[in-house]
Amino acid sequence: MLTPLIAGNWKMNTTIHEGVDLVLKLRELLKGADNAEILIAPPFTHIYHLSPLIADSPMRLCAQNIFWEKSGAYTGEISGEMLKSAGCHHVIIGHSERREHFKETDEVINKKVIAAIRDGLKPIVCVGETLEEREKGKTISKVKLQVKKALYGLGGGALRDITIAYEPIWAIGTGKVATPQEAEEVHNALRELLHELYEKESLKNTRIIYGGSVKPDSIDQLMSQPNIDGALVGGASLKAEDFARIVRFLPR
Ligand code: PEP
Repeated sequence: MLTPLIAGNWKMNTTIHEGVDLVLKLRELLKGADNAEILIAPPFTHIYHLSPLIADSPMRLCAQNIFWEKSGAYTGEISGEMLKSAGCHHVIIGHSERREHFKETDEVINKKVIAAIRDGLKPIVCVGETLEEREKGKTISKVKLQVKKALYGLGGGALRDITIAYEPIWAIGTGKVATPQEAEEVHNALRELLHELYEKESLKNTRIIYGGSVKPDSIDQLMSQPNIDGALVGGASLKAEDFARIVRFLPR
């Protein structure tokens, strides 16, 4: 069975001091937690500073974004090599907030996924539908297309390092969590798609995690679904006790 993955996306929150404070609390609360791989995705400015603080903990560092070029005249951007040298292992790509506010297209997301793999970072690729798309019955076709486009050109070998995050846009930061059945239906469809595109062997480590208002009171039911391999957590990852409880979800 795949080890579940629980990732906390801090978004553009916390000063360095607040970030250190949060990590120190998490270090205590997560002592001995071994039921899941645990990631925190703080702002770029915090990564290098937090790296030694989590070295002897079960947490690992994840970036919230990456640029696809290796270096050069790209003011304000950050490369995979920079992220790795700061202590990152994973990177979130294609979050709906980046798609919406920064107009990231599926093509841009594909370039970033390819660059992350090239640079030795494990991408967490986010996909999800709007409320309108859900109401029109377009959820499955939308997310399948997003996954196909994000993975375009990648061979099976890359899939070992890729996680797909299903994040319905209407559930992000809204307090409206998808029901476990709604999420499972989409995860199952995405799993089927991956099996159409890649050989079984390549998909042994490919997780499909859920994101969208995950809280301590919703995690257990979500994780009881056969195709939900973890969670991408926004708001609740800023509260040490809540995030620790989510990490320590009750087993199926
Ligand atoms: C997210 O940022 O990916 C997210 C799911 O946020 P929240 O948990 O706050 O809905």
